Amino acid sequence: MTFHLITIFPHIFDSYLSESILKRAQAKKLIKIKIHDLRDWAPDKRRTIDDKPFGGGPGMIFKIEPIFRCLKKIRKFTKIDIKKQLKNKKAEYSLFQQKNSKIILMDPKGEIFTSAKAKKLSKLKEIILIAGRYEGIDARVDNLIDEKISIGNYILSGGELPALVLIEAIARLAPGVLGNQNSLQEETEASNLEYPQYTRPASFSPIKGINWPAPEVLLSGHHKKIKEWQKGKWLNG
Ligand code: SAH
Repeated sequence: MTFHLITIFPHIFDSYLSESILKRAQAKKLIKIKIHDLRDWAPDKRRTIDDKPFGGGPGMIFKIEPIFRCLKKIRKFTKIDIKKQLKNKKAEYSLFQQKNSKIILMDPKGEIFTSAKAKKLSKLKEIILIAGRYEGIDARVDNLIDEKISIGNYILSGGELPALVLIEAIARLAPGVLGNQNSLQEETEASNLEYPQYTRPASFSPIKGINWPAPEVLLSGHHKKIKEWQKGKWLNG
């Protein structure tokens, strides 16, 4: 599975992607992550990717042209391909629509991201994520993308963190990415509702005279009772 990330801050991702699970998944070639600097696709020498909004208003807007050029490159589309696509195009399809691949714009007004959505997207071969900044993107981007996704009801300064959230949630569903497939299955099947868990020490004392013990049943080694306790906790909190 390949992720493409389109951003004006390509180095934001360096540290996160070079640690832990996502680092290992890339090293093992289970996933590929390619970062594209939007400024490389600016039409001018000064690498301008934004401009003032028509009709006035605060802030700057991403221009459509660099995004078009970047997507055209990723898709390896020629002018002829684009002409063909425009001829066949139905209203609901994007210009760069392709099987087993989706172009997703990170957008606070988009569909809210869920584990069901992550599961659906994990079936794809390729995902192209566009991270906005400033006041957003020229609305004609709708012609180029397949979907808009929000990671929650709040506004961030950029789409980079939302894109990372998607990559992580989707990548961990890919076979082999998590070391322990059992933990993945248990978590997904339990619809992410977890029972509380404990580890050593069996009793922790924050100050003398006070003890916070772990539940005794968990130390009992009695598997049936442990399962029952976990289920009860899971159902009743
Ligand atoms: N003025 C815009 C907000 C722009 S925020 C509006 O009202 O819609 C700048 C960029 O950050 C957006 O283009 C988007 O890519 C990203 N972003 C901000 N909040 C987000 C969220 N909750 N989910 C996904 N992307 C978000």
